[in-house]
Amino acid sequence: MNVLLTGGTGYIGSHTAVVLSQLGHEVVLYDNLSNSSDAVLEKIAQIVGQDFPFVRGDVRDTELLRNTLASHSMDAVIHFAGLKAVGESVAKPVDYYANNVQGTISLLQAMQAQQVKSLVFSSSATVYGQPQYLPLDENHPTSATNPYGRSKLYIEEMLKDVASSDHGWRIACLRYFNPVGAHQSGLIGENPNGLPNNLMPYIAQVAAGQRSELGVFGDDYPTNDGTGVRDYIHVMDLAEGHAAALDFLTKTTGWHAINLGTGKGYSVLEMVGAFERASSRKVPYRMTSRRAGDVAECYANPKRAGELFKWTARRSLDDMCASTWRFQQSVELGGS
Ligand code: NAD
Ligand code: UDP
Repeated sequence: MNVLLTGGTGYIGSHTAVVLSQLGHEVVLYDNLSNSSDAVLEKIAQIVGQDFPFVRGDVRDTELLRNTLASHSMDAVIHFAGLKAVGESVAKPVDYYANNVQGTISLLQAMQAQQVKSLVFSSSATVYGQPQYLPLDENHPTSATNPYGRSKLYIEEMLKDVASSDHGWRIACLRYFNPVGAHQSGLIGENPNGLPNNLMPYIAQVAAGQRSELGVFGDDYPTNDGTGVRDYIHVMDLAEGHAAALDFLTKTTGWHAINLGTGKGYSVLEMVGAFERASSRKVPYRMTSRRAGDVAECYANPKRAGELFKWTARRSLDDMCASTWRFQQSVELGGS
């Protein structure tokens, strides 16, 4: 299949590009490099042994998208492009709606014009809001507590309308839980600019000695050790989930929401312990107050993905930590 990856040089996009290419798909990456670097192109070419076509552009540039879809005879799009920092979305809601919602409208216009009607969308478990029960299945009510989450929810709803307006559309909204880890080569991974928002890159930087300690956001949650519990999923499992989604869309039409998670939750302290074992480094931490908007526990019921995609996450927590550490070390050596 010929597949366009918007946001293709980003964290999840670059791993998915590797997996799809190794499965024999022709992949074109499209990105405005607002949160990534074109240096990743060399890395993924090194992993798969061939270059990837790359278009530098914004998803709000409908004409450029349309030309890209036409000139590469695209069959499907995986739409990763978007802004993703919850805190920033509260401070800059207009930027978030413009990038995420307007960007998706622009993409849909280009796809409609070119009659490309297969779309995989990067959604998030954040669309479930405060969990009313666990594990979270796809029938759990949706809600949002911040502009980032709301942008994902609006896009999901918009895509539902598009699929009901024209039965030729095939749309999968993949609700990711907590993607972590890196490609086993250590060549690509998550390397956030500035202070990491997420737990895993923060832990990795503390282990590497770049930061003195981890602040643990709350130790009084109703969980085993009082710290927050999340469903961490290896980014390579997630990438393989996208390949499975594309395959699923060749056999079905309509709109589908599918969780991509492992079904198992780990606490912050369990993550710290696992990382210390994988890196043989100490990760000093200090208990701090809860972070506003955090939920105590969040983990997936991954049954639907198993049934529809014949896919399950198979990599362990040790794999997640070991690959993150390998990537962190390559960053320190100036490799990424
Ligand atoms: P990322 O920031 O590494 O990748 C996103 C890419 O999109 C970046 O390369 C960025 O330059 C690009 N981009 C942003 N706005 C753009 C625009 N207007 N036009 C063109 N390119 C643009 O993030 P990621 O972790 O790879 O996330 C990919 C997608 O998955 C995002 O939509 C994110 O919201 C979603 N998601 C991520 C997580 C997570 O924890 N990483 C969890 C749930 C959902
Ligand atoms: N967390 C933490 N310290 C940090 C970053 C995160 O204790 O510096 C906790 C956070 O409160 C949550 C878990 O780690 O319980 C995962 O947080 P992350 O931001 O990675 O994911 P999300 O909360 O978006 O699921």
